[in-house]
Amino acid sequence: MTEKKKLKKKKEPDITFYHPDLLAVPENERPYLKGYRCKKCGQLDFPKVTPCPNCWGEEFEMVPLSRRGILYSFSDLYIGQPGLNTPYICGYIDLPENVRIFAMLKGEVKTFKCDEEVELTTGPIRMNADGLPIISYMFQKV
Ligand SMILES: [Zn+2]
Repeated sequence: MTEKKKLKKKKEPDITFYHPDLLAVPENERPYLKGYRCKKCGQLDFPKVTPCPNCWGEEFEMVPLSRRGILYSFSDLYIGQPGLNTPYICGYIDLPENVRIFAMLKGEVKTFKCDEEVELTTGPIRMNADGLPIISYMFQKV
């Protein structure tokens, strides 16, 4: 790539990651995760798995998932991948729909407990190449 092309390259930070298949962030409403129910057998998955792992169905309907769940397990992480500011917390959240979500937790390390109620929120999940936060879904204490 020539120097001229490099200068022309648009350098806008990619700071928001609302993957349209995972997360909805309606204006003036609370965000929700998108579950996908198989139209053939009814199995609900997050994220979407195609074809359905239960029946190989290929048609799904989107189901807004509950915003609150129970923290099944978690880990405080002190060594992370590039782009992640340590320490950070990852966990599994069980939703009432019998779906287990893997997500980062918003809050301080050494403060979470298994079986406590958490709720969906958004926040920085990592930094992009420009050192700016990339925003996506997280869970926090209720
Ligand atoms: Zn199915």
